[in-house]
Amino acid sequence: MQTLTMVLVEDDSGDAGLIRYALKYSGTDHALAWVTSLGALAEHLEENDAPDVMLLDLNLPDSTGMATVEGCKALVGDIPIVVLTGHDDMAFSLQALEAGAQDYLIKGNLDADSLLRSIRYAISRARLEQRLRLSEARMAAAIEGANLGLFDWLLPERQFVSLNAQWLGMLGFSADEVALPQPVDTWLERLHPGDRARFDAALAAHLAQRALNLQCEVRMRHRQGHWVWVMVSGHVASRTPDGSPQRLVGVQQDISERRAMAERLEALAMTDTLTGLPNRRHFMQAMDYQYGRVKRDPALPVGVLMLDIDHFKRVNDTYGHAGGDVVLRAFAEAITGQLRETDIAGRLGGEEFAVVLPDTDAAGGRRVAEKLRQAVEAMRVTLDNGTVVQITTSLGLTLMHAEDTRPDGALARADSALYRAKREGRNRVVASPLVVEEQPMLPTGDA
Ligand code: GH3
Ligand code: MG
Ligand code: MG
Repeated sequence: MQTLTMVLVEDDSGDAGLIRYALKYSGTDHALAWVTSLGALAEHLEENDAPDVMLLDLNLPDSTGMATVEGCKALVGDIPIVVLTGHDDMAFSLQALEAGAQDYLIKGNLDADSLLRSIRYAISRARLEQRLRLSEARMAAAIEGANLGLFDWLLPERQFVSLNAQWLGMLGFSADEVALPQPVDTWLERLHPGDRARFDAALAAHLAQRALNLQCEVRMRHRQGHWVWVMVSGHVASRTPDGSPQRLVGVQQDISERRAMAERLEALAMTDTLTGLPNRRHFMQAMDYQYGRVKRDPALPVGVLMLDIDHFKRVNDTYGHAGGDVVLRAFAEAITGQLRETDIAGRLGGEEFAVVLPDTDAAGGRRVAEKLRQAVEAMRVTLDNGTVVQITTSLGLTLMHAEDTRPDGALARADSALYRAKREGRNRVVASPLVVEEQPMLPTGDA
């Protein structure tokens, strides 16, 4: 076993003698240094290695009472301190532990066994305290690094009993302006109205033990008014014996950046990069939606247009592919400029475009188509080199029918009408044969 090194700070030589005596007869291999004041201790520490443990009398020539513990602590740091005291009262000993001592001994009933036990205890306690401090510091660093909000929610009281700085910071508050406990409901008011029902359902499912955890992505209103996307994860930490939940603890993370990124990617995946119009996939989603409406209510008129630029190969051949691209962009702008807010134009590919016209019957559809045709005809596109290009477009018109078996049934009809428009000389609108303008509703087969 290693030599146990100790420093005794004791101004009473009689008391110091008793300690020496007790240690000598403990049979433990030890080295005891003796100093008589905090000042002397400071000097001793400068000249010697740090001891394993401190034995500290509180009434010294240069310090008395708890100030002695604090003064010693300041000198020795993490080295365990056993306080030697004449007082035998609980309040005093607790104070000494608070002040940083690891244990205390009452001088009156000092014997080798209790002295050694106390020393060993102080050493192991100091080690545990150090490990705990380290692990707490590691945890705090991790929480701070991950910017994790923590909450502790008393369910029956509807109170947050703990909210860390990160949780509050996410919403623009600082820890010193928010007194705990906090009523949960004032914070739930910050939930986005569109997310509240989902959050309540996720919470209810977990509280009723139908879901293992509470996990929910919601928006919360930041102090400055904007919305912050957060991921809330929680778990019931205690239940009463009959199973009713008492406390919910959890973490909250700001996921705004991830959501924004996902939204940007989503928008990118939906948009044609050349024209900025919805791409085929996105356009087909709009068609699906309108198809659903018409299926539910066959009386709803929904127009569908297909457009294909006339002799576009010539544009490319004459002005180059880059020139063609400029024309395509101008074409997209010209047609969207003519449409209503609710109409959706998309680029299906190449120089083929389509428009879905909600609440537009055959006559209305023809008017829109004609307007688009004229707008394209009137368009003058100036290329980079100053050349002015003029184009025309052919259009096929149809209506969505409740009888269509697929949302793109109308597109196929519009495409055949477009094909006819090409054959009949281009720069014109052709409606599919089933479009009867006086009677926008298609007679159903068996009506
Ligand atoms: P039509 O009047 O019969 O439609 O004749 P067209 O020359 O327009 O014939 P078609 O529609 O078959 O040709 C489409 C051309 O559009 C062929 C292709 O090179 C060109 N094109 C397709 N996508 C792009 C594009 O993104 N940029 C450019 N510049 N050209 C494209
Ligand atoms: Mg073409
Ligand atoms: Mg084409």
